[in-house]
Amino acid sequence: MSKPKFINLHPKDTGFGLPRAFWGHPDTFLPNADRDGRIRRWGLSPDTEEDEDESVEGFEIPAAMMRTMQTGGMYLKTPSPEKQFVKQLEALDIAELERSDYILKITLTGEGSVKVWRRVKISGGLSLAVLADKVITPLMGWTRNYHAHLWTDFKDGSVFGPKLGWESIPEPKWRVAHILRKPGDVVEWLYDCKVQPSFLVTFANSGSPCESILPGSESNGKVEVLVGFGACPREDGKNVWNWKRDLDKLRTGSYKEKRNLLEEIYQSMNYRNKGLTPWGNPDFDPTRFDTAEAIAAIKDALSLPGSYRQGSKTWVMPLAPDALKIREEGVKGKKVHTMNTPDDGGFLFEATTGKRDGISARACSMCGTPHNLRVDTACRAVYYCSRECQTEHWKQRHKKDCKRLQKSGIDAHA
Ligand SMILES: [Zn+2]
Ligand SMILES: [Zn+2]
Repeated sequence: MSKPKFINLHPKDTGFGLPRAFWGHPDTFLPNADRDGRIRRWGLSPDTEEDEDESVEGFEIPAAMMRTMQTGGMYLKTPSPEKQFVKQLEALDIAELERSDYILKITLTGEGSVKVWRRVKISGGLSLAVLADKVITPLMGWTRNYHAHLWTDFKDGSVFGPKLGWESIPEPKWRVAHILRKPGDVVEWLYDCKVQPSFLVTFANSGSPCESILPGSESNGKVEVLVGFGACPREDGKNVWNWKRDLDKLRTGSYKEKRNLLEEIYQSMNYRNKGLTPWGNPDFDPTRFDTAEAIAAIKDALSLPGSYRQGSKTWVMPLAPDALKIREEGVKGKKVHTMNTPDDGGFLFEATTGKRDGISARACSMCGTPHNLRVDTACRAVYYCSRECQTEHWKQRHKKDCKRLQKSGIDAHA
């Protein structure tokens, strides 16, 4: 058996039982896919063909287990080939790709039942955390700091996300260029994953083919909304099939059914601030996408220095006196924002972090590039790529935010 090129085996280790992938370059490593060609579970499963060649006569001992038994003592001082290989995967060379701009298409999945998609230009150097919270969430029309999300890289099944109750690779230090390496690569962005497993498969479950990569010389790193189609489903409206049923009802339902449903849509988190009413806006257009509105939402998100990605907005019904106490006194170490609900006496509660985003999860507050960032020395809360961006942002909105941020510290309230 030849020697692997990118990992070092112990002199007594023949490499028996190691996955065949270890003989290749980590950059082209591809674990086994499931039946639809996607890899959802990350892992280096042993090559089964090799098992047959070297299995012990009369025993069905998997090669991986044999390997553990035979080589267990060899790698006490040096990292095992498995660990070395994973290290190589982590050290992918992204120098060129992170300087390149990407054009992404983000599509709501669900077997084509409801068409919602957006196309946007971003930098390959953008952190997955920024892309999720400050670009895709506002671009699609969702509410920031409301629901959690997860990324799945179908090439190797790795899962990236904010710190939640379960294991995922912490997203802030991972760049777009780590998981989208060539045109046609697809990752899944799963929105609102905390509620029920049934949400996982359908609702706002968006695949984003990386459609093209512009060479570094043509790239400026700025976030640019290119085009889009379709209204965002209402927040908390369950899965994409429920949204399809809603849209059907708006088309064919009785006057009363339509009115009640419109009322619900216009009261949902992501529609409630648009000033829409069933009588003033009786026709909901499911094909509508307003580029200017999307640009404004992204600008708002980029303007704010902190993110709170764990989905901190919660509806509270003050049945117990304690609920009102939370509202008045807040939560230790957190800023608290509340908003009344119109008719039931409840309120929306949001705790936000007092910390600004970590160094790896930053972008220019004006244009969204992750490159050449310098802190605003007055508030030390926002970052800019250039004097032009700083001046423009000051004129547009930071003039009034800067003082507030100096006084009250960072505030991710969205
Ligand atoms: Zn800029
Ligand atoms: Zn400032």
